[in-house]
Parts: sequence; structure tokens; C-alpha cells
Amino acid sequence: MRTLRLLLSSLILSLLATAFAAPGDPAVLKNDPTIKAALAAAAKNEPEMIELQVKLCEIPAPPFKEEKRAAAVKALFEQYGLKNVFIDKIGNVVGTRPGASARPNVLIQAHLDTVFPEGTDVTVKRDVNVLKAPGIGDDTRGLAALLATIRALQEANVQTPGTITFAADVGEEGLGDLRGTKQLLKETLKDQVDYFISIDGSDPAQIVYAGVGSYRYHITFKGPGGHSYGAFGLVNPIHALGRAVAKIDEIQVPVNPKTTFNVGVIGGGTSINSIPFEGWFDVDMRSTDAKSLADTRDKILAAVNEAVKEENARWKNNGTITADIQLVGDRPVGQTPPESSIVVTAQGAVRAVGLRPLLTSSSTDSNAAMWMGIPAVTIGGGGIAKDSHSLSESFDPKDSWKGVQYAILLVSSLAQ
Ligand SMILES: [Zn+2]
Repeated sequence: MRTLRLLLSSLILSLLATAFAAPGDPAVLKNDPTIKAALAAAAKNEPEMIELQVKLCEIPAPPFKEEKRAAAVKALFEQYGLKNVFIDKIGNVVGTRPGASARPNVLIQAHLDTVFPEGTDVTVKRDVNVLKAPGIGDDTRGLAALLATIRALQEANVQTPGTITFAADVGEEGLGDLRGTKQLLKETLKDQVDYFISIDGSDPAQIVYAGVGSYRYHITFKGPGGHSYGAFGLVNPIHALGRAVAKIDEIQVPVNPKTTFNVGVIGGGTSINSIPFEGWFDVDMRSTDAKSLADTRDKILAAVNEAVKEENARWKNNGTITADIQLVGDRPVGQTPPESSIVVTAQGAVRAVGLRPLLTSSSTDSNAAMWMGIPAVTIGGGGIAKDSHSLSESFDPKDSWKGVQYAILLVSSLAQ
């Protein structure tokens, strides 16, 4: 019975998969007169779109506070002629460029949020042509390339057989944990997406087809707390935390599949003359391989438990340390097969703009789509972005229009 059901569901899936045409060839499509006009518009509009990138970057979009930037993008979606423009219940901006039919539906998006907290100076400084500001590349470049793609398709009046949906999503970074994309694929556009493209990063030759998975934990060590002199001899949560971090630092991880860990933030304590009642840290671990990721998580959690035991033993159980382990991030490992039509078409589109495609892995919004079995890639928006997630982030707009041309060719080839 189970086998029969499986057979039936795979039959339905393959019928659905063949319900629309195979993607077009970007090398052929680039000679189509209207696509040619769109590619030319992309190059012509680019200086204006770079100025728009500056404007968007200067609208702060800290984690969980993307509303202002979302409102600006929504207005631009409308100005550039998208249909059914709306903001969904968690803040994603969505708009459609309907084709002759609803399917295939190609979803292309860039994320609104940055890693920078409220109050960060996001004023863009210019050094000759290079733009400098937190978030100027990640992912304001993605947003600018997304908007430039819409504008060029609209100006050239490109008609596609399938539909293209555009989105600017919330919650890609950090504790956002891909909540924007998860919402789009599981609810807002549930069962309506045939291909998924995220514009994140700048290098237009890169095609991210494998999603690096990650776990993130917020771990809080708790104890009774007391006076540093008067209560000396009491267990100390920050000392337990130190033991845990030292153990984590010694964990061995494979180079291939690349697996990493990082204690990125620590906090806690009361005052210099108090034995604290609390200390905490945030730890992030990543891998392209699900098993290596799980192994690393197990070792890190074991290190925390050992540290607690050692601290309690050191002070002969004078008070008790406990560790509260909270999972705050879970990005599944995923992959779009390199021979799948979206990856092959993306490679063709990179070649069509005169570059050599490079397949790579990363942790982006595509992880969520890959995990759900939706063919997905993450592409670069053009130009040269450096030092993402740091205050010295910069963006060099050299040949950045190539990223827009790449996106135009990719979405129009897929929307066949
Ligand atoms: Zn990003």
C-alpha cells in the first residue's frame, strides 16, 4: 500500500513537472529582440540603479525591523509595473509579472534584512567609485539587481510564457533563520513555486547549488550568585562558560566536507565583585554534510555538559551550575542536483554574459527551498562586494550590470 502510494505520488510529481516546457537556452534567448532590448536597458539603467542601491542601503533594516525598507521596495515594485504587489503577514514584499500562463512560476528574491543592530551608521561613503557602508553589498546589491531586473524586463516589454514572481524577503540573516523564505514557500506562495532564485552576494559567475546547513544555540549557564569575597567557594557560571568554550575550541572537524564552529557572542555577569548568577554564549556550527553537522552539534553539547560537571566538582557542589540549551537556528543542509535544469540554465546564463560559471556552496535563503525539494540556486547580483557582515563592508560597481543581465537571462529562460 505504501509502495503504491509512493508510486502514485511520484507519478503525480512527474506529471506536474512536465506540465510546462523545459527551460529555454540563454545562449539562444539573448538574441531574441525583446530580451536584447532588456539586456541593453540593464546596462543603460545601471548608474541610476547604483544610486538606488545607495538609497536603499541608507534605510536601516536591522534583524526583525525591516518594515521601512520593505515599504520603499513595495513602492518601487509598483512603480516598475508589477502586478498584485503586497506585503505578507510577516513582512515579505511580493509582486508578480504574469506570463501567458501561471506555470512555471519562477520566484526570484533578495533579502531585506542586514546583520547590523539598530543605531548602526549606514550612511554610504564614497571612495572614488567604491561605496562603503554596512549592508551595501549584503544584500542591498541583491535588492538593486532585483529591481533593475524588473525595470529592464518592463521597459523592453518582455513577454514570457510562464510567470515571474519577485520578492524582497525578511529574516535571512542570523536569528532570522530564513523565516521570510520559509513563510513564502510554506504559506504565502505555497505550492506555487517551480523554480527558486535568491540574489545574494555579488559575483555573477557564482552559482550556489548546495546549501550549507547550520545549527545555532544560545546557551545560558546559571548558578546561585553571591559576593566575590564573602561567598567565595561558590560555583561560578562564567567559569563554567569558560571551560565550555575552551573545550569547544579543541573540537576537531573535517576539512572536507567543510565543517565549522564559532562562539560568536558572550555575555553575562553582574559586577566585578559579584560571583555571577548567569553567563551565556551564542555558538554557530555549519557543514555541507548533515552527518558532520550533527556530529559537531553532539560534541559541542557534550562539551557544555562536561563543563557544567567539572565546575560543580571543582567547588565541591557549593551551589549548582545548570546549562539552559536553546536552539535558535536550524538551517537544513540541502542540494539542487548539479545536472538539474535550473543549475544547467544558470550556467548557460553565466556563459551568455561572457563569464565562466563556478558552482559553489553557501548558507542562503535557497537552503529552505532545497530542503523542500524546490529547484533552487543563489546567484550574485554583480559588482564586487567585500567584507560582508562587517562595518567596513564595501561595494565596487565595476561591470555590475552583468549581474542584472545574468538575472534577466536566467528568469526568462526558466519562465518558458
Ligand atoms: Zn545575504
